[in-house]
Amino acid sequence: MNMRDSEVICGLLQAENYQLTTNPDEADIVIFNTCSVRQHAEDKVWSEIGRYKNEGPSRSLRTNHPRKKIIGVIGCMAQSYKEKVFERAPRVDFAAGPQDIHKIPQIIKDLTKEKSGQSPSGDSPLFLRKIWETDGGIRPEEIYHTGFHEDKARAYVVISEGCSNFCSYCVVPYVRGPLRNRKYKDILKEIEEAVAQGITSVTLLGQNVNAYEDGKVRLVELIRLIELVKGLKEFSFITSHPKDTTIDLFKAMAHSHKLKKHLHLPVQSGSDRILGLMNRGYSKDFYLDLADNYRKIIKGGILTTDIIVGFPTETDKDFRDTYNLAEGIGFDAAFIFKYSVRPHTAAGGLADDVPRQEKERRHALILQLQKKISKKVPL
Ligand code: SF4
Repeated sequence: MNMRDSEVICGLLQAENYQLTTNPDEADIVIFNTCSVRQHAEDKVWSEIGRYKNEGPSRSLRTNHPRKKIIGVIGCMAQSYKEKVFERAPRVDFAAGPQDIHKIPQIIKDLTKEKSGQSPSGDSPLFLRKIWETDGGIRPEEIYHTGFHEDKARAYVVISEGCSNFCSYCVVPYVRGPLRNRKYKDILKEIEEAVAQGITSVTLLGQNVNAYEDGKVRLVELIRLIELVKGLKEFSFITSHPKDTTIDLFKAMAHSHKLKKHLHLPVQSGSDRILGLMNRGYSKDFYLDLADNYRKIIKGGILTTDIIVGFPTETDKDFRDTYNLAEGIGFDAAFIFKYSVRPHTAAGGLADDVPRQEKERRHALILQLQKKISKKVPL
């Protein structure tokens, strides 16, 4: 989702005649599109921003020297930290949440005016130097149609934004807001536009694509409509939520000639007690049935997952349940994460009581298991 957001921003800025560079040293504007899903991801961003701290303030109040670069922090960290971004990283000029990315060209224009002295010098120079937009409204549909795709053969297409599931460990509903579905006609239009540019493969994106709904068009109907797009050779979707995944979806996947036979279905834990604490809305047996049906209906279909180890109160028995589930299903690939506390979340109120070394031990064990059974799966 963040990769697509970055493309959207590139498209919006190119439309304003900015040029992209892969060399941050020669850039006039550096934008960090950030992820808050794990502490590790945030730590990396703070450290990267730190590379710029010795450049001094953007516009010195003492000498009035113009800033060297405009630096922005956008995405989930901006939404989560809001103006506190500037306390932690004073060198940053602007912050914008995920629902405010369409405002970035205007923010940059405002900052550029200030840099060239065109802005009225008001009573609040600090405000003029720091802009944050974290209102989190609705994104305008037009932003998806700038035609910027980093890969000339493959496009990401957002079908829904936000999430209303509130899994207890997850910050997404707090930073990306509730689930909003794009209109299916807009999605089809974006795919047709991409195909007209030479794109042959599309990945549909949503935090929970299985909850997609626009009137009578749900994910299954959307798949049937996308199948009919001339010139499109293949497509896929991520991410699925087990509680909303249906047998009808598997049948639609089996019948489709273009849809990749790959389901990424995060299980997170094999312990019913932990799944309850995670607020996932399904049991281990429900998941096992789903996996079984998927493999029966889609012969040779690829099945991948996400697993969190070390969730608060996870005992060795809980972990063994997860290990046994992973061993029993034999996922083609699995992304295994050590639990880390996220701000705003319900699980953040629980003691993070599995010691770091124990999390690492469980992580290593399940990783070892997965390495034995994984095939190489391009996501
Ligand atoms: S389904 Fe759960 S884990 Fe996935 S984005 Fe929504 S709240 Fe987060």
